[in-house]
Amino acid sequence: MSDVSSERTFPISLQERGRKALRAIKGLEEAIAAQSVFCQGTIIYGKKGKIRQIPRQTPVLTIDRNRLVSILLKQLTETYSHNQVKVHFNCQCTAVDGTAKTVTLKLNQEQSFTTDYDLLVGADGARSQIREYLSNNAGLVCSQNYVPDAYKSVYLSRLNPETRWELEPNKIHAFTLENKARMLMVPQPGDHLNGVIIFDHQNNPLEGLSTKEEVKEFFEKNFPILGQLMSLEEAQMLLKRPVARVLTVHCERFHEGDSVLLIGDAAHAVSPSIGQGCNSSLEDVLILGQLLEQYGNDWGQVLPAFSQQRVSDAHALRELSDYTFPRQKSLIVEFLLRTMIKRLFHRWFPHWVKPFVFDLVLDTDLPYSQVLSLSQGWINKVKRSSLT
Ligand SMILES: Cc1cc2nc3c(=O)[nH]c(=O)nc-3n(C[C@H](O)[C@H](O)[C@H](O)COP(=O)(O)OP(=O)(O)OC[C@H]3O[C@@H](n4cnc5c(N)ncnc54)[C@H](O)[C@@H]3O)c2cc1C
Repeated sequence: MSDVSSERTFPISLQERGRKALRAIKGLEEAIAAQSVFCQGTIIYGKKGKIRQIPRQTPVLTIDRNRLVSILLKQLTETYSHNQVKVHFNCQCTAVDGTAKTVTLKLNQEQSFTTDYDLLVGADGARSQIREYLSNNAGLVCSQNYVPDAYKSVYLSRLNPETRWELEPNKIHAFTLENKARMLMVPQPGDHLNGVIIFDHQNNPLEGLSTKEEVKEFFEKNFPILGQLMSLEEAQMLLKRPVARVLTVHCERFHEGDSVLLIGDAAHAVSPSIGQGCNSSLEDVLILGQLLEQYGNDWGQVLPAFSQQRVSDAHALRELSDYTFPRQKSLIVEFLLRTMIKRLFHRWFPHWVKPFVFDLVLDTDLPYSQVLSLSQGWINKVKRSSLT
């Protein structure tokens, strides 16, 4: 675990899958909801000033990632005594020995210690050390790839008291720019607006800007609505903030024998395009809990059953994350039309017509593999278009 840095935090949207997992722990969903903003839809601001509203029937819970992590930690430490759960911060796992069943943890440059385990759960993110061990020593077949997009976190105020300008408090605000750059800003409690500027990693529109004035000017010119909300302090911070890349992970299994398990991004990191990484990670925990109830503490059954149930869904999620949203203009129009028509027909004939792919991901808890099979035609179409 590392320090809770604000450099790379961003808003996470949670829907039915993630929230269902939270609900399994008494009081957790309520604690998270109390520090979240519920968004009723998205406003898309086009390049030429055109504004399009995409309403959502089911509001999306949005919460800052660091805030979410601290609520989970609080719940954990308040529910279990220190004898039951010990939490160590700033311990970096540097080595695993699966035969001796030990892990080595580094405290700082000079100090590290080795401790043994019965069960090792690798929830250590997309650059998982535990996965690396399994890949190098236990024949785990896995691959990892960077998505072409890179991002920087951006923090603004939702209102400008001088101009009295303000953005709607319960909508996600999406902006696009010529060279594939875009911004996604999400209202947070206290009139904050947190989000990201996303761009092709080879074409960083902020590269070459060296002063806070230049950064502010860039936003005023390219994202005028946000430019008005950007202070010079934030422009200065943005200059210093690192560019982050997103790594995706594809594994053929998530366990080794009866003693090592991978969950969350360590097992199946995906592109954030449809906002499912955290939802699916929480769902992993729910499923692990259900398997523990089914098999008791028999890890020899629980771990393979987890892989069996989860790998196909994780692979389906990757397809959905890569190909739900098209990049071609004509397909974007088709996507929006299909979504609206299916919404309408689903409202009239709920048993006959299922919602379109994005609504299926967001508003249902159908397994991702089922969502993919219901949406395969569309996914194939977007995939073909991305090859041309
Ligand atoms: C810009 C962006 C927007 C996103 N938006 C959404 C969204 O709207 N909805 C959604 O569902 N998902 C979203 N995601 C994805 C989501 O953030 C991840 O899927 C989720 O955080 C995965 O959780 P995790 O616990 O598996 O991994 P992480 O959140 O990466 O946590 C891993 C933890 O392990 C620690 N760690 C790493 N290496 C070691 C080591 N060697 N030793 C010890 N500890 C270690 C890290 O410090 C960290 O605390 C988004 C991602 C990005 C980049």
